[in-house]
Order: sequence, then C-alpha cells, then structure tokens
Amino acid sequence: MRLDSATLFCKICFKDKAGFGWSDFENDHPLCDECFASMEPHEEVFKVGPYYARCLYSYTERIRSLLYQFKGCKDIELADVFLAKQAPILKLIYSGYEMVPAPSFRRRDLDRGFNHVHEMFKCLGLPFIDALEKTDDIKQADSNFEERLNISRHIRFRDGASVLSRKILFVDDLITTGSTAKACCDLLMGHGAKTVRVLAMGHTRKKEAEKAKRKGFRAPSPFFKSP
Ligand SMILES: [Zn+2]
Repeated sequence: MRLDSATLFCKICFKDKAGFGWSDFENDHPLCDECFASMEPHEEVFKVGPYYARCLYSYTERIRSLLYQFKGCKDIELADVFLAKQAPILKLIYSGYEMVPAPSFRRRDLDRGFNHVHEMFKCLGLPFIDALEKTDDIKQADSNFEERLNISRHIRFRDGASVLSRKILFVDDLITTGSTAKACCDLLMGHGAKTVRVLAMGHTRKKEAEKAKRKGFRAPSPFFKSP
C-alpha cells in the first residue's frame, strides 16, 4: 500500500520534517529541502519538432539513482518526490490539459506492479487518457539511434481512446533525443488533439543525443519562452 504523500518525514532521507517552524506549512511535500537541492532542479523549456516541451531536471547521477530505485527496485513511495515541489506551478501552467502518459508495454507494468509514469505525474491532479500503447517490448535505453527514430513503428493509438479536441499534455519520465515524444505527439495530433505539449521529469544528454545532432536530427535546444 502506498503512503499518503503528506508524510511528516522525507521519503528520500527519512529525516523528520516536523519542527521546521515557518516551513511547517510545506509538510505536505514528501521531501526535505536538502534532498530537493541534491536533485539539482534545472527547468528547461524547448521545442521538440513543433511541440513545446518542459523538463524539470538534468539527468544527473542523483536523478539516475533515484529513478532506478523507483522503477528498477519498485520503490513506489519515491513516485511523489520528483514533481513534489514543482507541482503547484505546473498545475497552473497546464490547467485545462489532460495527460497522456508515454506508451508502455503492458506486461512490463504488470511485472513492476505499477505504471511509473502514471505514479510520477498523478500529483498534478489532471485527468489521464491512456491513449497510447507499445506494440512490443522495445526498451528505449537498449535501442540504437536508428531504432529510436523508427519508434513510431512500435507505438499505436489505443482502440476506443479519444483525444478529439482535447488539450493534451504528453508526459514521460525522461526525454533524450525527443524522437519518442515527437512520434507520440504526431500520433495524438493525427487523432484530433487540439494542442499537444510535452512534460518530462528529466532531460538526458547522452552520446545518443550528440550522435543525433551529428546526423542532422534536431535535438532539443533551449528555448527560453514559456509555452
Ligand atoms: Zn530528505
């Protein structure tokens, strides 16, 4: 069973958050200020193809290990920590949007016991539309550049789902080249979404992104204008 996000202790270091005085009103945050600072939040707004995208952290070693503990070690309690501090402002920015989580392979979710994107973003309180699914168990981390560019072959619009005339926020844990996000956004626009934006927790800058740049693919670049 998952604990309520309003804990009196930090979900990362387990330090008691009670007795912080003035900041007591922030006790509904599941992490302490020190742990938040250690995650080195770094917000960026840029474009993936024609779509505005926002990331909240660079993919540091700290973020990588927290994500591994959450996803790989199935520590569902960590779902709340990634967006906790930013959630109030994100709720305002994306008011009126509905979230479409990055497509997952159903059996992988069943093995893990939860969908990590769902759990990470549900603190925004926006409705979810599970409009996309993977047709096979392709793992982005294992795929090479060409496979990433062909990701659209492995994604499909779910039967019975509808995004017609909706304002859609496509959400994912990580964005690297942006090829998956763009393919998904294209699919959502193709099914009649009114507008589509992207929100990812982390922004990776691995060698794949550099390789992509060399090959002429337009990797995400900073675009300092609020969408
Ligand atoms: Zn802490």
